[in-house]
Amino acid sequence: MLGTDQDAVGIRLASVERRFWIDRDDTLRLAQDWLAEFGDAECGATGRRLQVLIAAVRIHRADPSRSAIDVQQILAWAQQHGEIALQSRCHDVLGSLFEMVGDPAAALEHAVAANDLLSESEAPLMRAAARKCLADALGSAGSLDEARRRYDDAPRLVIDDPETNIRYIILNNLAFTEHLAHNNDEALEAVERLVGLSQLSDREIGMSARDTIARVYMAAGRLAEAETMLLPAMDSAFSDAHPDSSAAALVALTELYREQGQLGKAQIAIDRCRDLAHRNGLNRRTTEVAREQAEVHAANSDYRAAFEAFRDFHEKFEALGASENEARGRILEAMFQTAESRRESERYRELAERDPLTGLHNRRFVDEHLGAALMTLREGGLPLAIAMIDLDHFKRINDTLSHEVGDEVLRTLGRILIDAAKATPGAIAARLGGEEFLLILPATDADTAHANFEGLCRTIAGYDWAPITHTLPVTASIGVALAPDDGIQSSDLLRAADVRLYVAKRDGRNRVVHSAIIARSGAESGEANLVAAGLPGFGAMGIVA
Ligand code: GH3
Ligand code: MG
Ligand code: MG
Repeated sequence: MLGTDQDAVGIRLASVERRFWIDRDDTLRLAQDWLAEFGDAECGATGRRLQVLIAAVRIHRADPSRSAIDVQQILAWAQQHGEIALQSRCHDVLGSLFEMVGDPAAALEHAVAANDLLSESEAPLMRAAARKCLADALGSAGSLDEARRRYDDAPRLVIDDPETNIRYIILNNLAFTEHLAHNNDEALEAVERLVGLSQLSDREIGMSARDTIARVYMAAGRLAEAETMLLPAMDSAFSDAHPDSSAAALVALTELYREQGQLGKAQIAIDRCRDLAHRNGLNRRTTEVAREQAEVHAANSDYRAAFEAFRDFHEKFEALGASENEARGRILEAMFQTAESRRESERYRELAERDPLTGLHNRRFVDEHLGAALMTLREGGLPLAIAMIDLDHFKRINDTLSHEVGDEVLRTLGRILIDAAKATPGAIAARLGGEEFLLILPATDADTAHANFEGLCRTIAGYDWAPITHTLPVTASIGVALAPDDGIQSSDLLRAADVRLYVAKRDGRNRVVHSAIIARSGAESGEANLVAAGLPGFGAMGIVA
């Protein structure tokens, strides 16, 4: 039943994420609607994956620093909760963000993590997306061969899904990367494949791809084809394009006309671009169009107008640099701040789970981790042993010597316990309070526990305490409990250990009471006596029978 529900969620999630590669407005709406269904409830990994999707759409639209904060917080959550697929998605988006702010090293680091964490069972589209992210980052970092290999690899994963536009985007990015590296032949080959793909699937080439294709044609001297590619930007009916893509194409068209001496046509393209950029607040395009205007005036031999236009361009260029730097700064700051606050909260969390005197874990930590360890055991894990350790006549040390000496004894015992824990992977040494400690040994059977705790008892008694306590001896009594033998709930196990600790005290201290010993020595009757004596915490145990 649960499996079926989870399958349904997985299918729905994959379909919402797939829309990203078909229609981003659509994916935004679907993700927001689904998130609304969660209301105030904890939305878990699924809800967070939707939030990452929303952030990915918004990176190119709204304030990218907001997306940066959101995704980093989600990444921290995913790391805490061991949600690997979600971590991969976060790294993917952070890779794009760093790509945007021109930090190829950080972009590459995230892109590599996105791929490393990706499971082979993830949808092929998601795997292709992660490869594309890595290819983009490698290209920007200058590893062209490595980038090509991923650009080549990624489309194979989505060969069965022609409805999505990811293959176009991959070819576009490959062409653009080659173009920037002045590899005209390779760029041209990618462009040819892009055009071929769109003809094959009878699909209109999008405006941003047209810009790339035209620039590659221009570099190859194929000016007529470049013009054909760019002309739709003059057509306001070609309105599905993002205004920025259309404006970029108009800038390219202006350059094309200007270089061919068709200055009248160039001016028409400029006017259209200026209007579009102005209406949509596209500062970069406004600046580019100002530069083109100066060039066209100069080509018309109108040097006075050219000078004015150039001054206008220069002003805009300076302002653009400042605002783009500011935006870049905002994103980097957002990245930095969230990383910082995560480190802080990790530190606080760590402090909250430690005992300040000994540096051992505290009861709060034990409550969490013993529960988790027992959960593993219930799911088929190995047995586990705990020992409750209480110093003998500790009060005497405080009273005879001083509280400070008492503290030093506690700290020293802490170090002995840390040493004892080192022998068992995953062991936990904790101070429960006062002079009472707990050692948890995972994957430990009765015989091993017996040997370990007997050894510990001897180590404590045999330790050279004289420099601290002079003539006063320091020993401890230890009560042991085993899971599953003594119970599989924390409370049962702690109570069993506590009862045996009382038995150890009663039988003379400086000893270990282990269930096996009780059985062998007949001390079960001792426990029965304790029940009869109504000692604390014993009545509810149910281990006597
Ligand atoms: P028993 O062998 O029966 O365990 O005797 P005990 O004296 O060890 O036990 P009791 O519970 O009577 O005394 C524990 C003492 O531990 C009392 C308390 O003042 C002292 N204590 C608790 N916390 C600390 C601490 O942080 N530092 C110091 N120095 N003493 C502490
Ligand atoms: Mg004591
Ligand atoms: Mg005590």
